[in-house]
Amino acid sequence: MQLAPPLGIFGGTFDPIHNGHIYPVLEGAKKANIKKVALMPCYIPSHKNPATASSEDRLKMVELVCAEHPLFYPDSRDINRGKPTFSVDSLTELREAMPTTPLCFFIGTDSLQNLFTWHDWPRLFSLCHFVVCDRNGGSVKNLKDHSDGSSKLLAEGSSKLKTLLNKRQIFNPMELHKSLAGHIYVANTQTLTVSSSKVRQQLAKNQSVESFLPATILEYIQQHKLYQPSADFC
Ligand code: ATP
Repeated sequence: MQLAPPLGIFGGTFDPIHNGHIYPVLEGAKKANIKKVALMPCYIPSHKNPATASSEDRLKMVELVCAEHPLFYPDSRDINRGKPTFSVDSLTELREAMPTTPLCFFIGTDSLQNLFTWHDWPRLFSLCHFVVCDRNGGSVKNLKDHSDGSSKLLAEGSSKLKTLLNKRQIFNPMELHKSLAGHIYVANTQTLTVSSSKVRQQLAKNQSVESFLPATILEYIQQHKLYQPSADFC
């Protein structure tokens, strides 16, 4: 079968989207010669947590990032479903729509550690490859050397992860172009120590977040009065 160029997919809550989402994926995609990445914000019930932005606002912020970086385009399928769904559902849809396109799902190393808790995780490997970006405290090197026993779940995950990596890890990213699914490529990207929760916490304390976000996202947050400082810090 003649394969189409691979498509990257990067899913997240993006509450809000930040530099730690953007730059590792730009770098990983460059290394793997992936020319398009769909940014796919997930649905969160709006009544769930008042500290979070609505689906519409999170999607708007993703669209602003896509306007700045031609690698990215917004994919609102998760949000459009209007109920919480799983990555495996979106990947199944994409696979049906693009039967000859290798799908490359981008995740941070923290998500790789949690992969075994994802719904229907073994089936993911028949739907997509994984491209793993480094995230502080969770590089794959650290995982392999993990010995402090800080978390049983993590430790269990680590030995399972070693087995998974032994079976599926590839070192030449061009392998991602030659099959539809099943590989893990660890892109060894630069680590950026930032998270959406950190951004929300800083904003709640009226502290600066300029170094964590593109200026357009900060402007959007200010204009739409998202993540407002809590009364304690006003
Ligand atoms: P929160 O702090 O609210 O849990 P988050 O910053 O972890 O949010 P998510 O939207 O939950 O962001 O993450 C989506 C994806 O982005 C996950 O695969 C996660 O591993 C990855 N990711 C998030 N932050 C970083 C970062 N700083 N470096 C690399 N990957 C990241």
